[in-house]
Amino acid sequence: MSRFYLTTAIDYVNSRPHLGTAYEKITADVIARYKRLCGIDTHFLMGNDEHSQNVYRRAVEQGLEPLAYCDRMEAEFREVWAKLEISFDDFIRTTQPRHRAAVTEMARRIAARGDLYEGYYEGWYCISCEAFKQEKDLVEGNCPVHLRKPEWIREKNHFFRLSKYGPTLLRHFQEHPGFLEPEVRRNEILRLLEGGLEDISISRAGQHWGIPLPNDPASVVYVWFDALINYISGVGFAGDQARFERWWPADLHVIGKDITRFHCVVWPAMLISAGVEPPRQVFGHGWVHFGGRKMSKTLGTVVDPLEAADRLGPDPLRLYLVKEIPYGNDGDFSWERFEERYNVDLANNLGNLVSRVAAMADRYRRGELAPPAGPAGRLASVAAEAAADYRKSMDRFALHEGAAAAYRLVDAANEFIAATEPWALAREASQADRLNQVLYEVSEAVRIAGLLLLPIMPGAAGEILRRMGETQPIESLRLDRDAAWRAGGARTIVKAEQMWPRLEEGARATTTSGGTRPMTDEQKTPSTPPAAPAAPAAAPAAAPAPSGGDCISIDEFMKVELRVARILEAERVPNSKKLIKMTVDLGTEQRTLVAGIAEAYEPAALVGKTVAVVANLKPAKLMGIESNGMILAASPDGGKPTLVIFDEPLPPLGSRVR
Ligand SMILES: [Zn+2]
Repeated sequence: MSRFYLTTAIDYVNSRPHLGTAYEKITADVIARYKRLCGIDTHFLMGNDEHSQNVYRRAVEQGLEPLAYCDRMEAEFREVWAKLEISFDDFIRTTQPRHRAAVTEMARRIAARGDLYEGYYEGWYCISCEAFKQEKDLVEGNCPVHLRKPEWIREKNHFFRLSKYGPTLLRHFQEHPGFLEPEVRRNEILRLLEGGLEDISISRAGQHWGIPLPNDPASVVYVWFDALINYISGVGFAGDQARFERWWPADLHVIGKDITRFHCVVWPAMLISAGVEPPRQVFGHGWVHFGGRKMSKTLGTVVDPLEAADRLGPDPLRLYLVKEIPYGNDGDFSWERFEERYNVDLANNLGNLVSRVAAMADRYRRGELAPPAGPAGRLASVAAEAAADYRKSMDRFALHEGAAAAYRLVDAANEFIAATEPWALAREASQADRLNQVLYEVSEAVRIAGLLLLPIMPGAAGEILRRMGETQPIESLRLDRDAAWRAGGARTIVKAEQMWPRLEEGARATTTSGGTRPMTDEQKTPSTPPAAPAAPAAAPAAAPAPSGGDCISIDEFMKVELRVARILEAERVPNSKKLIKMTVDLGTEQRTLVAGIAEAYEPAALVGKTVAVVANLKPAKLMGIESNGMILAASPDGGKPTLVIFDEPLPPLGSRVR
């Protein structure tokens, strides 16, 4: 059986994990879960980096023994990782005896090889980076990462002969072209190697918080040299030889792009010096920015991953980070964008699809679907293509493309429902077999999409599989076997509550078409006051609500005549980027209205949708067209409008919405 050993960087515990830290753990977790889904024996190591002067200072500030402080931080980190469904197999702390033994053994071996020597070091030292900085790398005298002035330090140090390993490392890169991904990082390191390496200090004098150097116990091992060794101490180096031989070399180190030099130059050189094989591959992911700025505890631009997971759930957060950020590139997180993607990808799309399939199976077949009588249709080949694309993408860590492949199948399932119209088939007794086949096939497509999404959204995808009639334990599912189209066997579809209700918080119901305040083509929807024409009585005289907003009475609300309508025709308004002209059916009459939704919807996709309309609005002219009423939509700040659309079973046209 093949095996896969992967690690993430270990984290300093001088502050809680932020969303950027969580991004690394989430993406590594997606890889670990994917490998397990492929049936590969996987070992996933994470941990905390505790021998840092920053950690020591933080403990002292809080009046705690460093180890007691680290114990407390471990609990906090574990709480975050549990909430985000991170499935590590082992969690290492650099204060553990197994790690101390491994560091001591590595230092001993490197010294025995003649690769350690004593000298003096002086230079600029950034305490936040815990690294010496070269003069040329400073920006106006400051650390370029932390924008603060480094300290000038001179002390007796032990040096590692890194310079000796330059040619060996260059050869290693040539012989293993995939050693460092993505390619842009590889080129940076190759340039560094070609320029020649300098020896590096691996000890700090006069400190006590750290692991003593075996040949000079008055010095402790430099925190970076110490930390890198966790990858081998975590699998038994200098403690459990059989375990070490089983898992080392690591298949993958997942790290941030800013620490590739440590992982692709220093670390393999240390290992080669100590007679240990280098890791097989390093992946340097990009940074998650927050609203366009680097997320950094030092800069104070951090997002709490617990807050993000609490707001919409850990699975939506995982999907956002995986699907929206090409893996290896930098990406951006903002609350607005997160909420927008939640509504688009989950509430409107996948969640709505699962609800519709379950509702139709329940309504037409009481949830029991017999095996289809006819041969599998086009959806089966779309599913096979999606699964193959998914696998190819995931194997090369293009996680965003893996997510996109799964979503292609989701889209195809939605289109399949629209094209086959199960509700129409249900009206004709002669179509009973066809209806069963349609429902069975769409449930099968959703089941396979759920399987592909399992590494990305473990909780939610498991629930989707269960609702689509999967009876095997989720952990026992395997990609090879279970992504194949199943055409036999009856299945029970489970109808349950909506997985991702549409988000109204932060979004607000507002007009997307004209009324007494017609929206011009240039006017931005977000800056339009909410539903001004629809709530004319929200006068300043109204008593303040407990929340501080103005309240209207039920009678005032009932003045607004909201009715169910179906869109019969839709077309773009010439020379307008935003406006779509529609004909809607209110049951008793047809009306023309204009809405500013062209940036969010294709006209063809609107036809047939059942929507809510303000029916008693004064007509308004937009680009020369008279609009008689307006369609309700959510218009989040900075986002595109999303129509309020009714789901199956559809209400009669003209029904009052209240
Ligand atoms: Zn710094």
